[in-house]
Amino acid sequence: MNEGLQEYAKRLRETGQLEGAAYAEMIRFRDAQLMELVSQYAVQTRLDQAAQGIQWMGTIDLSSYCKNDCYYCGLRRDNRFAERYRMSLDTVLDCCERGLEQGITNFLLQGGEDLWYTPDRITEMIRKMKKMSGDMTIFLSLGERSRAVYQTWKQAGADGYLLCYQTSDDRFYRRLHPAKMSLLRRKQCLWELKEIGYLVGTGLMVGTPYQRVTNLADEFAFLRQLTPDMMILEIFLASEGTPFEKERNGVLDLTYFMMSLLRLSFPKIYMPVAQTVEMLDRNGIVQGIGAGADIIPVDLTPPEQRSQYHCYHRHMMRGKTGIEDILQFQKNIQEEQYAIAGMHEHICRR
Ligand code: SF4
Repeated sequence: MNEGLQEYAKRLRETGQLEGAAYAEMIRFRDAQLMELVSQYAVQTRLDQAAQGIQWMGTIDLSSYCKNDCYYCGLRRDNRFAERYRMSLDTVLDCCERGLEQGITNFLLQGGEDLWYTPDRITEMIRKMKKMSGDMTIFLSLGERSRAVYQTWKQAGADGYLLCYQTSDDRFYRRLHPAKMSLLRRKQCLWELKEIGYLVGTGLMVGTPYQRVTNLADEFAFLRQLTPDMMILEIFLASEGTPFEKERNGVLDLTYFMMSLLRLSFPKIYMPVAQTVEMLDRNGIVQGIGAGADIIPVDLTPPEQRSQYHCYHRHMMRGKTGIEDILQFQKNIQEEQYAIAGMHEHICRR
């Protein structure tokens, strides 16, 4: 292994910090030995910090409608091939009930930016969910809304908000999004969510077209300013019916390596394994946990809607963990000797 890179890995483990150029070198020149070393450090760091072990998060895919047109996303408005659905309040509460029955207490309500879900509809949903159990953490991932709306949902009982930003570089952002979407507004939303007091989750995608090593390396500085509570690394999957449908998928080993670098740079963050990673890698959950992640998403969406939410090529629809798989996954994870938190552990500020 290159001694200089090994030195960077040690420094990152000890201090949690590196310069952008050092991150870039590690990403560019990573080899199997470096990846192994960094993942070992990442797991050890997680064990040192996150005494409660791996947690579960039940995800409910509320709506496959979106008013936006991000070039990489199968839910984009102009994708004529996407199948669309909206969940009723009762269906959402049923999903929630099934999660509670399995002891899940962390929930993520996610969907495209669908204005049919007015602030009042979501407020009612949050209130009704919270009435089902006093022992519940709700994360929302419903895109960019006004500060007043974020405030209303927080007051209704939402605990966290997940808003991925993909890149902090404006030029690169504009290659992934149509002109009317604004990186500045997205960053403002993240700061507003923090100010309002949400547990803030954010993230980016590894392997999108036009992404360079320096784009990835530069994100550590931005994330250091934002200091989110949760970070998620999606992998780019070429989605049918999008301008990028013929592009190559992102690379798994780079995604796992980036997860380890994030864990070492931000020891206390929560890090779910992204569902896109699970779709590409049948063993994605165990690999992700082995790279430093600490949250396993469990899909509570009813099967008939699951395939409509993620519009990837059919062979991609494999590894996602549904509520029916939870016991098997518990077993897989324990076989790897990773401790699973009691089901009633909550995501909270660390
Ligand atoms: S990434 Fe989000 S905002 Fe963009 S099109 Fe997809 S669902 Fe909509």
